Amino acid sequence: MLALGMGALAACSSDNNDSSGGSTDGGSKGGKVALLLPESKTARYEALDKPLFTAKLKELSPDTETLYYNADQDKDKQLQQAETALTQGADVLVLDPVDGAAAASIVNEANQKNVPVISYDRLITGGKLAYYVTFDNEQVGVEQGKALVAALQKSDPDKKGGIIMINGSPTDNNATLFKKGAHSVLDSSGYKILAEYDTPDWSPDKAQAFMESQVTKFSGKFTGVYAANDGTAGGAVAAMQAANVSPWPAVTGQDAELPGIQRIVAGQQYMTIYKSVKQEAENAAQAAVDLLNDKQPTGTSPDTDGVITSLLPVQTVTVDNIKDTVVKDGVYTVDQICTAD
Ligand code: BGC
Repeated sequence: MLALGMGALAACSSDNNDSSGGSTDGGSKGGKVALLLPESKTARYEALDKPLFTAKLKELSPDTETLYYNADQDKDKQLQQAETALTQGADVLVLDPVDGAAAASIVNEANQKNVPVISYDRLITGGKLAYYVTFDNEQVGVEQGKALVAALQKSDPDKKGGIIMINGSPTDNNATLFKKGAHSVLDSSGYKILAEYDTPDWSPDKAQAFMESQVTKFSGKFTGVYAANDGTAGGAVAAMQAANVSPWPAVTGQDAELPGIQRIVAGQQYMTIYKSVKQEAENAAQAAVDLLNDKQPTGTSPDTDGVITSLLPVQTVTVDNIKDTVVKDGVYTVDQICTAD
C-alpha cells in the first residue's frame, strides 16, 4: 500500500472523467511508417507513445502499417533499427533519437532513399528534417525550477539548504533545454546549487547511484532535489529512502508517470510535468500521413533552422491538481493512482 501523504485525500477521493478527444481527417494512399523510440526505462514510450501513435495512424490511414523499434538507450542499435526499417520499405521515419547529433546520419541515409524524417520529441541536430513535433522543453525546466523554489520558500525560507541537480542525458537536446530552463530560475533564487550531474542515458539506476554518494556528502545540507524526469526522481527517492534522509527534501520530476504521480500523492515527490503524449503522438501520426500523401505537415510555431515545428504546451502537476490534469484527460483513473503497484 502507498503511505498516503497530506494531499492524498483530495487527490484520491472521487471519480475521474475520462476524455478522449482529438479527431483529424485525411485519407491516405497507405504505406509503412517506422516509429523509432529511444528507450524503455521511461514508461511513456511503451505505455503511451507506441500505442497512441499506432492507433492514430491506423485511424487516419487504415492501409498504413507501423514498423516499431525501441533502441534501449543504444545509439548504434538505433542506427541498425533505422537501416532495417529502410530495408523493409519504410516510407517515413518518425525518429526520437538516443543521440541527437549521431542520428543525423540516419536522416542522411533516409533522405538518400527519398524517405522523409520526422524528429519526434527530441531534436535531431543535423540532416534535413521534414518536420519536428515536441513540447516547449525550455519551459519544462522553467516550470520545474519555479515549482522547486516555491516549495523551498515554504520548507526552507531562510535559504539554509541547497539543491542537488540531476539532469538528463547529455546526448539529448531536450535535456540541455530542461537544464537551461531550470538554471534560468534556480541560479537567481538564492538557493545554492551544491552539486550537478548529467545522467548518462537518463538511467534511473545511475541517478540513484549518484544520489547515494550525494546523500552522504551533503548530509543535512540539501533541501531540494532537481530531478529532470520521473525516472531520475525515482532513483533519487530510492537512494534517499535507503539512507533515511530527514527532513525530506522537495523533489521535482517530469512525465507524469504513474509511479511519479503516486509518489506525489505519498508526499515523496513534490511535482511533475504533464505533457500530453497523446497530443504529441497523434500530431506525429498526422504529419506522417501528410508526408505519405506528399503534403507538407503544418506546424504551430515559428520554425528554427528551417524545420517546420509544432511546440506543444506543458503543465505543472502537484498534489493539488492531479484530478484536473492527468485524471481529467483520462491518462489514469483515481483507482489506478490510489492503488499501489
Ligand atoms: C523526454 C522525456 C523523457 C526523457 C527520458 C526526454 O527527451 O522529453 O519525456 O523523460 O527523454 O527518456
